[in-house]
Amino acid sequence: MGQDYVLNKDYFIDVIKDLIVLAEEKRDYFTGLDSAIGDGDHGINLSIGFREVEKNLEEWAKEDLTTFFRKVGMALLSKVGGSAGPLYGSFFMKFGTPANGKDEVNFQEFYEMFKVAVESIEARGKAVVGEKTMVDALRPGLDAFEKAIEEGLAPKEAFNKFKEAANEGADSTIPLVAKKGRAMRLGERAVGHKDPGAASSAAFIETFYNKLP
Ligand code: ADP
Ligand code: MG
Repeated sequence: MGQDYVLNKDYFIDVIKDLIVLAEEKRDYFTGLDSAIGDGDHGINLSIGFREVEKNLEEWAKEDLTTFFRKVGMALLSKVGGSAGPLYGSFFMKFGTPANGKDEVNFQEFYEMFKVAVESIEARGKAVVGEKTMVDALRPGLDAFEKAIEEGLAPKEAFNKFKEAANEGADSTIPLVAKKGRAMRLGERAVGHKDPGAASSAAFIETFYNKLP
């Protein structure tokens, strides 16, 4: 599957640069979502985390993909408070492991990067689909990606399924009552609001999609 489709370090660095931009551009949007059902800091949290990544990017870009993403993850984990910092921190710390110390990955490895990273968020946060968290975007997204690969879709088309399902998953959080995270305390009052972490996750996946060759 996609044996000739190789993603090199430049691709991943470009994605991280776009995530740095996204964290600033969408800061108020994510924070606004979190103001409705949380404590209004999700955008601020991401901005703090990705500013730390930006500060170190040039230095870390010299590393192989495994080390690079471990450093990105550790920065998010150590600099960002709240739930999302540790969750996205564990995502990125795991994300580079299927690259096995290399500077590029094939499409199978690219899929495995998302698989281990999403599983890591699930393991850390113990959330399942339907609990109004980022898992509502990531899990259906990953499953759709996997299915698309099994069906033999071309790499970028397969990842488009990830993007679409993640966006739909984020929208699917709107009518839900939260079973995890701060929004849990609101009970029925969380109904009618999109989960901020699901929104940021879907936006992250879209960023990976947009840079795919
Ligand atoms: P905090 O809730 O600590 O203020 P953020 O506002 O940065 O942290 O992030 C909130 C987001 O974190 C929520 O919208 C939700 O998507 C996600 N989240 C919270 N708890 C969990 C969990 N246990 N598993 C997965 N995601 C979670
Ligand atoms: Mg918050």
